[in-house]
Amino acid sequence: MSNYHIKHLEEYYQVYRKSVREPENFWAEVAEEHFMWRRRWDTVLSWDFKKPEIKWFEGAQLNITENCIDRHLRTKGDQTAIIFEPNSPDETAEHITYQQLHDRVCQMANVLKDKGIKKGDRVCIYLPMIPELAISLLACARIGAIHSVVFAGFSSKALASRVNDSECKMVITSDGSYRGSKTIDLKGIVDEGLESCPCVEHVLVVNRIDSEIEMKAGRDVWLQPLLDEASPVCEPEIMNAEDPLFILYTSGSTGKPKGMVHTTGGYMVYTAYTFKNVFQYKDGDVYWCTADIGWITGHSYIVYGPLANGATTVMFEGVPQYPDFGRFWQIVEKHKVNQFYTAPTAIRALGKQNISFVENCDLSSLKVLGSVGEPINEEAWHWYNDNVGKHKSPIVDTWWQTETGGIMITPIPYVTPTKPTYATLPFPGIQPALLDEEGKEIKGNQVDGRLCIKFPWPSIARTIWGNHERYKDTYFSAFDNMYFTGDGALRDEVGYYRITGRVDDVIIVSGHNLGTAPIEDAINEHPAVAESAIVGFPHDVKGNALYGYVTLKETGESRDQNNLRNEINQLIKDRVGAIAKLDKIQFTDGLPKTRSGKIMRRILRKIASKDISNLGDTSTLLNPECVQVIIDESL
Ligand code: ATP
Ligand code: MG
Repeated sequence: MSNYHIKHLEEYYQVYRKSVREPENFWAEVAEEHFMWRRRWDTVLSWDFKKPEIKWFEGAQLNITENCIDRHLRTKGDQTAIIFEPNSPDETAEHITYQQLHDRVCQMANVLKDKGIKKGDRVCIYLPMIPELAISLLACARIGAIHSVVFAGFSSKALASRVNDSECKMVITSDGSYRGSKTIDLKGIVDEGLESCPCVEHVLVVNRIDSEIEMKAGRDVWLQPLLDEASPVCEPEIMNAEDPLFILYTSGSTGKPKGMVHTTGGYMVYTAYTFKNVFQYKDGDVYWCTADIGWITGHSYIVYGPLANGATTVMFEGVPQYPDFGRFWQIVEKHKVNQFYTAPTAIRALGKQNISFVENCDLSSLKVLGSVGEPINEEAWHWYNDNVGKHKSPIVDTWWQTETGGIMITPIPYVTPTKPTYATLPFPGIQPALLDEEGKEIKGNQVDGRLCIKFPWPSIARTIWGNHERYKDTYFSAFDNMYFTGDGALRDEVGYYRITGRVDDVIIVSGHNLGTAPIEDAINEHPAVAESAIVGFPHDVKGNALYGYVTLKETGESRDQNNLRNEINQLIKDRVGAIAKLDKIQFTDGLPKTRSGKIMRRILRKIASKDISNLGDTSTLLNPECVQVIIDESL
């Protein structure tokens, strides 16, 4: 039996059981059958969650770009690997074949080598969503350099702290970037940031917007002339399976960013295997993930997972609202996208708009819809299912983290029956556990607790760059012999998982633990509500009470706020229980979000508790201006 492609539920259970009973055989078979190794491993897995130390496929040698590019050339050299859809619909989309990708990656790899970059060196990539971004990742991997992508929406300070943390020798950037109707002076941000980064020797600059920029002599150089001169052949550096592939800083919803380190062999196997199954990708399909490559979702499911499967993957440079709110759907129609993977924040934002934006486009190519990043609330789930999937494309609500490298809990489309707000079942190889406060595992169904993982999987991050102690403290100290995810979850009567929110955000009211997601879900059911976030604040009697921040849909109607408050609390009472009713409800125009679009509850918590003197690290906020407004209008 080939375990690689799961096609029905019975097969899922068989494969899953095998992955738990004989994990080493299971992963060895997947790795052996579907990838290209220069040398086979000596040991499939060795692990110790106490140290913690995890190694997969030790002794094996490979280069991930041979798996993502070279091995497809014979059969798929002329097939499109990457479709680049530019910011402006007036600019022609670019189709890059596997052969062209090979040549461009090799040229870039040769430029890096020429600039003195060697195996193990760190290269910071600070680029917009243009082909050079994917090509830079792969070029680093080609020569064994460790890439550290910093999302090109981050400030100069955030960039500098990441560059310094991992002591990058080089930065790859562009003169500027397009973002809807605006341009952003990326190079200016880099120049400012690098003033405090003595480790950087070279800056390679892509010309994207043809702007006049300053080039620092001896440090900065335009990339294109170097590429034009470079050879399109570059022998891959042979890497050990456990050599680092990249560092990626977590999105920073909860505190100081952590430089998660992912290694080569296990990461490749797991991202490729999950991509194939979670999106049921078939040869010839066009797959589109709307994330930015600056996030783990883009690393694993725009670049490595799809390319390892010889897929066609779309890279979109722009934003969902430019030139209008129909852009996503226009792109689906234009490129006949088969699998579409986005985030709840985007679904909620698009769901607020006139439905004609969706209805004007032919979405009949779609077969699978995905969601990632936050719990998807029930209303958004139905909107997505009704209007985008039209009840024929299953929604895969994929739960995972930067630290996990790949998708962990998810339905498999056309295999696992879906249920709104539920990420459903663990992917093969993943052994979730729910723990109580004392650290005891809660067995059985219809229970909830802290979500942990009992056994290693191939793409788990191996450390935090330069800070193994923090890695140990954050993930392996809360519970004995478990990886602690930081999230809470419940398991329903059939064993489906629902993520209830971050454990840090859990609010204890009169002795009851309340997760944020189910309550926000109830609030969002109200037809006037667009989005909401709840936090706890000190209360004399209950210890804690609930404070809700609510944004309304832009319908133009005016509503009586007190009526709305009553209606919202009635919904909560009906759906969750009277215990979860909100003591305070503040209507606001916006909620503070990370640049990856996640609501940052820790800031709201401080405002609700009137503790605004130190709001913590806000450098990763997308919309810092809304914080002051919320403070000024707070109740
Ligand atoms: P930081 O760890 O720096 O605070 P972050 O947790 O936002 O940032 P990511 O690794 O991008 O960084 O996000 C992972 C988290 O996102 C998960 O732990 C979970 O809280 C949330 N999440 C992701 N996907 C889902 C999903 N499908 N359902 C519910 N929550 C999800
Ligand atoms: Mg996290």
